[in-house]
Amino acid sequence: MSGDFLALARPGVQKLSPYVPGKPVDELARELGLDPAHIIKLASNENPLGASPRALAAISAALAGLTRYPDGNGFDLKMRLAERCGVEVNQVTLGNGSNDILEIVARAYLAPGLNAVFSEHAFAIYPIVTQALGADARVAPAREWGHDLPAMLAGIDQNTRVVFIANPNNPTGTWFGPQALEDFLTDVPKDVLVVLDEAYIEYAEGADLPDGLNFLAEYPNLLVSRTFSKAYGLASLRVGYGLSSPVVADVLNRVRQPFNVNSFALAAATAALDDVDYVSESRHLNEAGMQQLQDGLQSLGLSWVPSKANFLAVDLGREAASVYDGLLREGVIVRPIGGYGMPNHLRVSIGLPSENSLFLQALSKVLGA
Ligand SMILES: *Cc1c(COP(=O)(O)O)cnc(C)c1O
Repeated sequence: MSGDFLALARPGVQKLSPYVPGKPVDELARELGLDPAHIIKLASNENPLGASPRALAAISAALAGLTRYPDGNGFDLKMRLAERCGVEVNQVTLGNGSNDILEIVARAYLAPGLNAVFSEHAFAIYPIVTQALGADARVAPAREWGHDLPAMLAGIDQNTRVVFIANPNNPTGTWFGPQALEDFLTDVPKDVLVVLDEAYIEYAEGADLPDGLNFLAEYPNLLVSRTFSKAYGLASLRVGYGLSSPVVADVLNRVRQPFNVNSFALAAATAALDDVDYVSESRHLNEAGMQQLQDGLQSLGLSWVPSKANFLAVDLGREAASVYDGLLREGVIVRPIGGYGMPNHLRVSIGLPSENSLFLQALSKVLGA
């Protein structure tokens, strides 16, 4: 008789469902016999601009080193990040995407008997990395779809080692301001690591959205994670980073895989960081697209969760699954978020103006049908 390798997995792992990514264009083309060129994907919060030419040039130049292991210390990228973010190099941890940073944090600090606190409707990776380590997930109730920081504070107990917070949050787009963050950091026990996930910060940093970096010096229990996957347009390369106290960075760098960020990702990210025009163009395109989508949704009589990210969670006022399927048949891929406790919403990423219009047309057709 063979072993039951599901039952043999950690109890927390048995309870996980596999992460469901946005449907790839080629998969939909295969399934429905559509021309991939006529499909638009607004499902994974990717940058619609196309990569920065500087990043592309850096990748071409890095090809000559294909047979060599990458620089395991990520020297150039860490130097540039430290300079840009106003921290020391020993406060930077590089990740294979920022998801890797979240997982490294979990591996370093969580174990059976310990727990992590995060919010209802929060990013799907938090329960995955927590339960994979055999730790407990303590889920705090959300408020108007967003993080309720006092409720999260109340969820912390003596076994809490990590709190995961996304600002803005995915899939809701909700955010909180600097004062709320400051109050939270002041009240959180000093031996709880606060992971502030700022994957979308470049889209909205400003008066109402705090820059987590401003709090690093005062709060050694804060880690800010960021990514090159969204506003920097490098999702396929998998590169992100954590900024923290030197002690936390030292711990994370002991746990991470030695070559977790590949040479092309290192080169492209370093180049992309200097392409400030690309990032500001991304931000402007996003602001215009956000307005375009909101105008269109309003004329369809729909509402949405207010968002400071590059996507909107649209409220269909009824089970969204059939609308999602209808959009697929129109060649438009968005993201159902029932798995996040939001069965009546669809998350749509902001695309190019033409993609946003095609989405709105398709949605109007599907709703009218
Ligand atoms: C997209 C996203 C990330 C980034 O993931 P990468 O691994 O860097 O591609 C992290 N956190 C949130 C909340 C996200 O939505």
